[in-house]
Amino acid sequence: MAKRDGNDWKPATKLVRGGTMRSQFGETSEAIFLTSGYAYDSAEQAARRMAGEEEGYVYSRYANPTVRMLENRLAMLEGSETCRVTASGMGAISTTMIAPLGQGARVVAASALFGSCRVICQTILPRYGVETEFVQGADLDAWKKALSRPADLVLIESPSNPLLEAVDIEAVAKLAHAAGAKLVVDNVFASPVLQRPLDLGADISVYSATKHMDGQGRVLAGAICGPSDWMEEHIDPWIRHTGPAPSPFNAWVVLKGLETLDLRVKQACSNAARIADSIAAHPKINAVRYPGRSDHPQYEVHKKQMSAGGTLVAFSVKGARAEAFRMLNALNLLDISNNLGDTKSLACHPASTTHRALNEEERASMGLDESWIRISVGLEDVEDIEADILGALDAM
Ligand SMILES: *Cc1c(COP(=O)(O)O)cnc(C)c1O
Repeated sequence: MAKRDGNDWKPATKLVRGGTMRSQFGETSEAIFLTSGYAYDSAEQAARRMAGEEEGYVYSRYANPTVRMLENRLAMLEGSETCRVTASGMGAISTTMIAPLGQGARVVAASALFGSCRVICQTILPRYGVETEFVQGADLDAWKKALSRPADLVLIESPSNPLLEAVDIEAVAKLAHAAGAKLVVDNVFASPVLQRPLDLGADISVYSATKHMDGQGRVLAGAICGPSDWMEEHIDPWIRHTGPAPSPFNAWVVLKGLETLDLRVKQACSNAARIADSIAAHPKINAVRYPGRSDHPQYEVHKKQMSAGGTLVAFSVKGARAEAFRMLNALNLLDISNNLGDTKSLACHPASTTHRALNEEERASMGLDESWIRISVGLEDVEDIEADILGALDAM
């Protein structure tokens, strides 16, 4: 099977063709190698492969050709030396957080994180002797203070979930490196189309491929993009022996999703920008957060590191949980769902769903109260999306 090299291709070309390996049949669409094992020509070859003395597949918990195509496509796109794909985004993030760290390690993380990432830092890592200090992501002085002591890993999300806060990736990367830490960026909300964390100085980017990469609400998958030596030392042994490997079928679905990622994300951004503006003008709104609007508190940071405003909009309704629920229940077109990055527009109430594992104090520390609604803008006609949201606000 010949692998196509195309490191000088533009991102949209990499998304369509990067990493493709053709079999002897010359198929144009990537093949699904739905196999758990591999047969050897001889017992000697089996021994060499298992000893790592000969290149080749040995077991799909370690590697699989369809999964490899996805990993190569993502590494090429992200500009990372290598990539590993996992069964879910949390599989990727938990592997990245747990595998390289041990007793006495120190993590510094932005307080506004995906709910499960907070749980890993707050509840799971401490059981293994790893402590996390949380800082306000937008506060560079707080980062300076927290990173004036040595640290091992820094975790940020930008834009963050659910309030679309910006963290200055370049500035935090410098501080993290001076403290001896690797910077990990959860780049799910921006997607690789809009933001390139490694170009901004991050060491590792992690993804839930469930979101924009599949983008059609079908499968779970995750990805870790980073340097080869770090991946081989820390991530490969963990993946081999603990088993977060993805199904080759799911990897194939994501490969197909990537082929339209550029188009989908750009169209969804254009829809989201218009929706943010029309929500902002509605009388039942307290505030809108959209990274592409100049009234976003960290607009300048977003503008510096993202090429468009993204596909998510958050807004606070006048009132609290009851009013937010009334708005959601009045939607006809949009689904109430905590997923995001889908072709279908989705709405959710973070305080009672994605961030319900946090207590009120923790939610308050990230500025999230019961009045906030998050919308993932999809690819329906923008006039239909707009009419549904404004109609629900009127009815609220
Ligand atoms: C969804 C999501 C994850 C987790 O991904 P799964 O594929 O659901 O495991 C992590 N981070 C962010 C920002 C997400 O939106």
